[in-house]
Amino acid sequence: MKKVIVTGVTGQDGSNMVDYLLRETDHMIIGGVRRLSVKNHQNIEHLQDEDRFFLIDLDVTDAQNTDEVIAEHKPDYFINFAANSFVGCSWDMPEQVFETNTLGVLRCLESIKKFQPNCRFYSAGSSEEFGNVDYSPQDINHPIKPRSPYGASKAAARHLVKVYCESYNMFAVHGILFNHEGTKRGEEFVTRKITKGVARIHSVVHDVDNWRKRKSEKPKFEPIELGNIDSKRDWSDSEDFVQGVWLMLNQDTPRNYVLASGETHSIREFVEKAFKHAGFKGFWEGEGIDEKYYSLDGEHKNLLVRINPEFYRPAEVDLLLGNSIPIREELGWRPKSSFDKLVQKMVEFDINAENSIKGREGTS
Ligand code: GDP
Repeated sequence: MKKVIVTGVTGQDGSNMVDYLLRETDHMIIGGVRRLSVKNHQNIEHLQDEDRFFLIDLDVTDAQNTDEVIAEHKPDYFINFAANSFVGCSWDMPEQVFETNTLGVLRCLESIKKFQPNCRFYSAGSSEEFGNVDYSPQDINHPIKPRSPYGASKAAARHLVKVYCESYNMFAVHGILFNHEGTKRGEEFVTRKITKGVARIHSVVHDVDNWRKRKSEKPKFEPIELGNIDSKRDWSDSEDFVQGVWLMLNQDTPRNYVLASGETHSIREFVEKAFKHAGFKGFWEGEGIDEKYYSLDGEHKNLLVRINPEFYRPAEVDLLLGNSIPIREELGWRPKSSFDKLVQKMVEFDINAENSIKGREGTS
């Protein structure tokens, strides 16, 4: 039985990758997790009774630990999703970001080279490496021009992967993944922040609608606060991307590919679509930091979104739009989702989660 080590399994991509591999292969899957004082195993709870999945302690910031794991388990594949993945915090902790995202990759490559040189390695690259883009859509040959410590950390990892492939004839790929989201996405990312906020507001307004049948009441809730709503991203569903990662790892010779939807949308459009899926008819008023998004509630305006400059970044990536034609044509990658389906799925999931919390509170 082949063995696949997946790091970062408590995160969105790691957990989706494990689900995919259990469904599509008969390999043994070994999940690498970092020791934390409080466990965050929510995304892998459903795997508890899986015969072909088990967890090990693996921290890519520790070379001894990485060496021991590779030497003991001798994996056929190593998929590294262990990373500090939030661009926004990379200005606050740039060293930690490089320690994990760049040196972490270096340690994995070194351990594989020493103990299991035929192991196929996947490094999680990012469209943030393109940063201040020269042209659209961005393909694999786009210049590397990061705008954040996060983007720089991933760009450096890309160079290391290339160097190890060329120097030691290793099989290592660094996929360039554009933004990818879903119901396991962390709440610090703008998509999940919006869909969670929409669900929270929906639950209050929905409650008030019921109340109104008995007495007049205006809904009370805090609006969602966002930073730059005019940046544009190429968003896909993480569940589609894990297939692309696996295809990249199973090519005859290692070659990097871009995974992207090929569509770009602003944060503003994401806000509009998310509220629409929750049944709100919204409209914008004002400009710049005074811009606000409202819905009409009889005579009253309900404030749904306002701008908080605290969420602006020191340097912004204004536009991302990926060209994933090569992986579609050469490796047969077939994404199933779309921007609309993705927003709908996330909003519905978060509304259902709010409703079940409310249901539990109601019965307790
Ligand atoms: P990123 O593309 O990997 O940085 O993904 P994010 O979801 O963190 O951010 C996507 C875009 O949304 C960036 O251009 C952010 O500046 C913008 N944005 C606007 N408001 C917010 C916010 O409140 N939180 C986050 N995370 N991003 C925001």
